[in-house]
Amino acid sequence: MTEKLIFELSSPGRNTRYVDDVDVPGKDIDISKLLPAGVIREDLDLPEVTERELVQHFTRLSRFNYSVDGGFYPLGSCTMKYNPKIDEDVGSLEGFTRIHPLQPEETVQGALRIMYELQGFLAEISGLSAVTLQPAAGAHGELSGMLVIRAYHRQRGDDDRRIVLVPDSAHGTNPATSAMCGLQVVNVRSNERGGVDVEALRSLVSEKVAALMLTIPNTLGLFDENILEVSSIVHQAGALVYCDGANMNAMLGQVKLGDLGCDAMHFNLHKTFGTPHGGGGPGSGPVAVRENLAPFLPVPVVARKSTGDGDTFFLDYDRPLSIGRVRSFYGNFGVMVRAYAYIRSLGPDGLRHVSENAVLNANYLMHLLKGTYELAYDRPCMHEFVLTGKHLKDEGVRTLDIAKRLIDYGFHPPTIYFPLIVEEAMMIEPTETETRQTLDAFARALLDISSEAVAEPQMIKEAPHTTPVGRLDEATAARHPILRWKRE
Ligand SMILES: *Cc1c(COP(=O)(O)O)cnc(C)c1O
Repeated sequence: MTEKLIFELSSPGRNTRYVDDVDVPGKDIDISKLLPAGVIREDLDLPEVTERELVQHFTRLSRFNYSVDGGFYPLGSCTMKYNPKIDEDVGSLEGFTRIHPLQPEETVQGALRIMYELQGFLAEISGLSAVTLQPAAGAHGELSGMLVIRAYHRQRGDDDRRIVLVPDSAHGTNPATSAMCGLQVVNVRSNERGGVDVEALRSLVSEKVAALMLTIPNTLGLFDENILEVSSIVHQAGALVYCDGANMNAMLGQVKLGDLGCDAMHFNLHKTFGTPHGGGGPGSGPVAVRENLAPFLPVPVVARKSTGDGDTFFLDYDRPLSIGRVRSFYGNFGVMVRAYAYIRSLGPDGLRHVSENAVLNANYLMHLLKGTYELAYDRPCMHEFVLTGKHLKDEGVRTLDIAKRLIDYGFHPPTIYFPLIVEEAMMIEPTETETRQTLDAFARALLDISSEAVAEPQMIKEAPHTTPVGRLDEATAARHPILRWKRE
């Protein structure tokens, strides 16, 4: 396949015509009569190539992208798993894609029913009682949940509760969303097993604390062994427990966060339930809350009334204590439909299998690697684990270099340098949808890279060697991307 850019292939007069000139009425319309003169250009420098070259060019470009359908994507915390195509098929049905959010309720009863039932499923999974589907992402769910908690304290005349306790193993969005609510973030340190340090927590709770925000499993991929004690300490101080449930694929059907003392939590439908995280598409971060927080949820909530001829679904705006809207319309409906299809197609047993496999895959991979790469915390993990690449420091090889070398082996790198509390961190999430063969191949690659790093450190430091571009200035590439080819 040609490696040349389309502009470089261009030569005057080159083209392909598969159809003759059209002879339909109107083909001779004078464009200059339809468009303002300023937008019509005579001297457009367009490449002249054959259709075959054009297709080759765009197909080649499209393959530069790594994808969840194309390969193993162990990007810790992001759950870049395979998403069953049936969910996409259901989400693409015209009855879902061709409705409008401003249509009268009686014409979209099916859509409202799906939302209503999805609220119910998420309540069941969380062990909590009410759900809003509005938030458009995980971080947006956190923001909504913290606003609800804030409103709850205010309503009780407890307006002085302005502190949010956030463990140092929390996801970065947790302190960020708390700060956005005007709350003050105070760090809680981890103990030597990677859980919340209970004594530190005890010394920090007070009548000024609004909530503890707990990422669970935390960013080390660990379940907090003391969670019952942790939530009871928080509750005894009159504060609430917010759980970041973005990584529910670790716990689906195994435990309900509500049973562990959680008062409010969010889900990432675009991680756990049938839609990939990232990739520029929409997300959905529903929030589930305990009964006492339900009145504060954003409006509208999808509700049901039973009439003589069955159930009717409607958008309930009559909620005087609501924090108001957090998003235009009703959230990202398409993602909700995929989540609904995912939950309905798997059923309770299937969901349980998801978490069993997520945890099994992560522990299997962790065991293959931990003899070579040191584990940050050596105990069974949940859906992901954190290694450190610091054993290669003497070679001058860093985790970044290992990640880049993985690309040569055909794998997407894991999340690196996060969580911040682990030096040279590599956060690996194999997800539940990978086969043992893929996990073995990935482990082989990481083990080989470790040997290569000793034998040929310079080669690793210059990786990747198989991609069109090598080491980019990632910050500049993201902030000032050069997206157009210009003739020199
Ligand atoms: C992904 C993630 C988030 C943020 O979700 P977004 O949809 O990207 O905003 C928050 N917390 C945890 C633990 C996550 O893994």
